Amino acid sequence: MEKSGHLHPLTHVIRHMVGIFRELGFQVAEGPEIETEHYNFDALNIPKDHPARDMWDTFWLKPQNRGLLLRTHTSPVQIRYMEKHKPPIRIIVPGKVFRYEATDSTHEAQFYQLEGLLIDKDISLAHLKGVLGKFFEGLFGRQTAVRLRPSYFPFVEPGVEVDVSCFKCGGRGCGLCKESGWIEIMGAGMVHPNVLRGVGIDEREWQGFAFGIGIDRVAMLKYGIDDIRLLYQGDLRVVNQF
Ligand SMILES: [Zn+2]
Repeated sequence: MEKSGHLHPLTHVIRHMVGIFRELGFQVAEGPEIETEHYNFDALNIPKDHPARDMWDTFWLKPQNRGLLLRTHTSPVQIRYMEKHKPPIRIIVPGKVFRYEATDSTHEAQFYQLEGLLIDKDISLAHLKGVLGKFFEGLFGRQTAVRLRPSYFPFVEPGVEVDVSCFKCGGRGCGLCKESGWIEIMGAGMVHPNVLRGVGIDEREWQGFAFGIGIDRVAMLKYGIDDIRLLYQGDLRVVNQF
């Protein structure tokens, strides 16, 4: 019997996410994986010597290419897009990112993120919660609830951690959600005025929100994969299950 090919689990998840956001009016944008220090950090309100830089362990390219690095997040695409397009803006950015850290069951030196950016008039955290509510209902099922908790990321103010109600136990508590009923799923917030000013958008006229979600983590949660490294080893015994 002939064997046919099929998609990798990460491709399934990316297509699913992109499909949901397209229905919500978002367009896909892309940017380079080799970035400058300016786009990866400074333009995102993370100046040199700011302690927040320690949040991103960075692969720097050779010293003669000073200032070039492998992007640590998909957020620099926000800056590149806002430099070229006037608001209103509604984009998502699925892409590969890199971190200089040891690998274990939940960390890889490369993984995928999906970034989102919406800029419009009179936008508040309520809009963020509404959009994310629709997204997670599509991703994890209609009964999924969303919860925001205060957090800190330099390029947003205020920043939030986003939790979803556990899709396995429905919020009653189980091993997947560590008996809490909630799963920590993404970082988000209102775009920092410094970021908007830096790309020439008047922050008194326009506001917006941004979010970033780890695609590998979602694939692991959805498919019950307990080691991120399995997604990159090309082991057919794993891949053929999808
Ligand atoms: Zn649970």
